[in-house]
Amino acid sequence: NGPLLRVDGLSVDFHTEDGVVHAVSDVSLNVHAGQIVAVVGESGSGKTVTAMSVLRLLPKSAEVMADAIAFRGTDLQAMSPAELRKVRGGPVGMIFQDPMTALNPVMTVGAQVAEAVLLHQRKPDKKAAWARAVELLRLVGVPDPAQRVKQYPHEFSGGMRQRAMIAMAIANDPDLIIADEPTTALDVTIQAQVLALLKKAQAETGAATILITHDLGVVAELADAVVVMYAGRVVETGGVQELFANPRHPYTKGLLASLPRMDVEVDQLDPIPGNPPNMADPPAGCAFHPRCPLARARCETERPLLRDVGAGRRSACHFSEELA
Ligand code: SF4
Repeated sequence: NGPLLRVDGLSVDFHTEDGVVHAVSDVSLNVHAGQIVAVVGESGSGKTVTAMSVLRLLPKSAEVMADAIAFRGTDLQAMSPAELRKVRGGPVGMIFQDPMTALNPVMTVGAQVAEAVLLHQRKPDKKAAWARAVELLRLVGVPDPAQRVKQYPHEFSGGMRQRAMIAMAIANDPDLIIADEPTTALDVTIQAQVLALLKKAQAETGAATILITHDLGVVAELADAVVVMYAGRVVETGGVQELFANPRHPYTKGLLASLPRMDVEVDQLDPIPGNPPNMADPPAGCAFHPRCPLARARCETERPLLRDVGAGRRSACHFSEELA
């Protein structure tokens, strides 16, 4: 049995006034049935662009090239826009960072959830779709759902809107959920609730999940496998436990050092110095070299390839062995 989702050799270019920006370069990832794969990186790392290319949700200025983007063995690149619409919100559910922009402000929440159901019903039945919308909102913990379905998105709090998004994502029993920074726009206390809900929804539907996040706390909480991205490329992959216990790329190590822990005072945290590169003009060699504590001359000229470093792990660092 092959993976549920297979992305092979994905590159995405944006044609801008300043020239071509290689937002994503040669990214490959597999997601197996029921698996939660976190794609981690700072803003500009290409993680969101990678996820959005899967269902062709990028603006027209994006040029997407891939050897394969296959869902359940079918090439999504060959699908017509109409066929893709059947996939989105059907077997592939989506959760976006900011539900306020993803929800329609002039439609009631109930109507939007019901529409998500209707779109994928074999025999469209409005009454059944509406009842299902109420049931879905109840399922995701929206209080008094029979009344709240009649409200508009602006009458929902941020956390409740994100719950409604999750309801839409799971409305048609998806095999895969793509969640892009699902808790980033929320207050810390609400974040924990939405995260718990996401975990529950995932467990109940058994859907595989691609979790796009910059937050390693979220990764530790939810993910099975991790793909770390930097400057548009995958720099490390592995199982969540091994990767947290023994990062094999200096960037991952830096990310982990800046993760707040129960046993460490916040002022002892060690954020990675410097900023992510300007993607219109990324550094030569290893794109991480200006920020890397292990960098040496070779890193400035020779780009490290992603390679096996044992125990199912891959890392793109010339000196990965020094971290073992
Ligand atoms: Fe650091 Fe060099 Fe490894 Fe890049 S290749 S991560 S600069 S040591």
